[in-house]
Amino acid sequence: MEDKILSPYVLTAEEKRTINSHFSTHKDWEKGAFDSIKENLIADLRPKQHNKCCYCKSELGFDIKAVDIEHILPKSKHGKFTFHPKNLALSCPGCNTSKGSKEVVKRAVQNYPRSGANIVIIHAHFDNYNSSIQIHENAVYEGLDDKGCETIKQCKLYRLKTVQRKAREVSAKQSPIQELIESLRTAPQDEQRQFVEQLNLITGQINGN
Ligand SMILES: [Zn+2]
Repeated sequence: MEDKILSPYVLTAEEKRTINSHFSTHKDWEKGAFDSIKENLIADLRPKQHNKCCYCKSELGFDIKAVDIEHILPKSKHGKFTFHPKNLALSCPGCNTSKGSKEVVKRAVQNYPRSGANIVIIHAHFDNYNSSIQIHENAVYEGLDDKGCETIKQCKLYRLKTVQRKAREVSAKQSPIQELIESLRTAPQDEQRQFVEQLNLITGQINGN
């Protein structure tokens, strides 16, 4: 199944007026005057993105700072596209921070691109995510083409393997058995073998052999 945003946010006439009167450089993005536009954007894009980050596909949170409005072409380099609806997608703060203001176009642009051809990463409005990245076990990202590999690099998606491992370690601390399973996962093979032998002895006793 295709995985991309099928239609961008549509700015209302009033929102366009607000932008015209309060926006001149990308730094204006932070102005309070745009708060309601941002809220409307997030509300509109959440279901269109199935509440997933456009780069790592992890679930987006609902608390303040749990979701970012990402400028696909970085606003510091492409200020005039700061409010261009096709330049906006929702991402997790981790991906947004990792991607930063790295350039994503191959050749300089005047008008907003109409396809992903000139863009080195997965563009949430133009490119089908599944053609470029395959995610294994919710944590390992495999680039299937150049766009996929560049997205993994720019958003540091390899960081999520560490995140998953830490999450497992935390949940392991909640039960001694879980902790045991976690240490077994990383134990040398001969120790794992010893464990299986001991386990066989124990279960033998339980079964009365
Ligand atoms: Zn993400």
